[in-house]
Amino acid sequence: MRRSVYIKTFGCQMNAVDSARMLSLLSKADYDVAPSLEDADLVLLNTCSIREKADQKIYSELGVLRRWKTLRDGRLVGVGGCLAQQAGEALRSRAPHVDIVFGTHNISKLPEMVRLAERRTPSVKIGMEGEMTHWETAPYLAEGAASSMLTIMQGCDNFCAYCIVPAVRGREVSRPSADILEEARALAGKGVREIVLLGQNVNSYGKKEGEIPFHDLLRRIAKVDGISRIRFITSHPRDLDERTIGLFSEVEALCPHLHLPIQSGSDRILTAMGRGYGRREYLSKILRLRAARPGMAFSSDFIVGFPGESEDDFRDTLSVMEEVRYDSSFSFRFSPRPGTRAWEMGDRVGPEESRERLRTLQSLQDRHSRERLMEAVGKEMEVLVEGKSPKGPGKLCGRTPCHKMMNFTPGRSGGHLRKVHVVSFGAHSLSGEER
Ligand code: SF4
Repeated sequence: MRRSVYIKTFGCQMNAVDSARMLSLLSKADYDVAPSLEDADLVLLNTCSIREKADQKIYSELGVLRRWKTLRDGRLVGVGGCLAQQAGEALRSRAPHVDIVFGTHNISKLPEMVRLAERRTPSVKIGMEGEMTHWETAPYLAEGAASSMLTIMQGCDNFCAYCIVPAVRGREVSRPSADILEEARALAGKGVREIVLLGQNVNSYGKKEGEIPFHDLLRRIAKVDGISRIRFITSHPRDLDERTIGLFSEVEALCPHLHLPIQSGSDRILTAMGRGYGRREYLSKILRLRAARPGMAFSSDFIVGFPGESEDDFRDTLSVMEEVRYDSSFSFRFSPRPGTRAWEMGDRVGPEESRERLRTLQSLQDRHSRERLMEAVGKEMEVLVEGKSPKGPGKLCGRTPCHKMMNFTPGRSGGHLRKVHVVSFGAHSLSGEER
């Protein structure tokens, strides 16, 4: 008899792809997707541990699932992802109702662990040996999806001072290019028009393995029949090279939007973070990208209140924002994670101060985001349709090449790619009409 699984995904896009792999594996092991938690026989939390708050959220979810499990016989709870990798057995000591704990390198063992749990045998697997040797081809794809993520590498060798990723995701491993291209072709064959290449540091793709360089990989994917848009995340500003920058003027399928996380605008703090680039180098790459593709949009990540960050350092971050005028950004207060170098660092910024800095940064970002959206009004833009818009009956939504969300009233054209005239904007999206 088939059972059903509900996966709750926290954190980054790597986790989103991993959840798709879990669904793919479990669908071959007699599990269908449950429409809601109430319908499910098995719940998996795919976790994130990048900040302390993320940890707390998972444990509070597990509290809710303790009761959920008692409401029907045979219900199972599993925890995967970064928190599972870090906590291992300790997670079951804190939450004994959890049946399965699987780390970031043990997703392929999930069906076997679920079988054990069905026979009331809990299991924990967090070994990182073997690394990523099993790259699933074309994992679970939602019906009619026009965009898909495609993992090209896993892990990271950078060990930025604040970051837990190398500890929970392991060292950098790149996937063979032939494998990636095969998956790109398979996705195009299923109707996918946009591919988002995924890795912790995509610009160092293949260097350890002697694979083709990243810019060659992009070129080859752009030639896959049916693929009209390519994006990639995450880029490391140090490793983004001239050949890749140049591609933005040559390869039309490369979308004119880049997520290029600077983290701080202060050279002193960037050095303390161990990022390997300075403010001037970063800004000059932005200029070269804008020269290669005029009108290019940028987004970034910021950490405020890193140990030792002074008011002057923080002002340097605000001035970088003024120079680039990012379309959007993700910003957080520094959160010390055990096992990272920053955990040991003194000279901490007080909570009130870092909260205030975050408020200042986010209100500047809101202003820039609004200005960027306003600039789009009156223009015609291509939208890749994602589905129904929550903004009203009959409306559709999708992303522009610059990655802005557009809600629009459709015309008669049909298809995934539509030309939409922008008529207005809201806090985070554009509104338009297909003519
Ligand atoms: S580049 Fe730095 S911040 Fe990004 S995943 Fe690697 S260690 Fe973490």
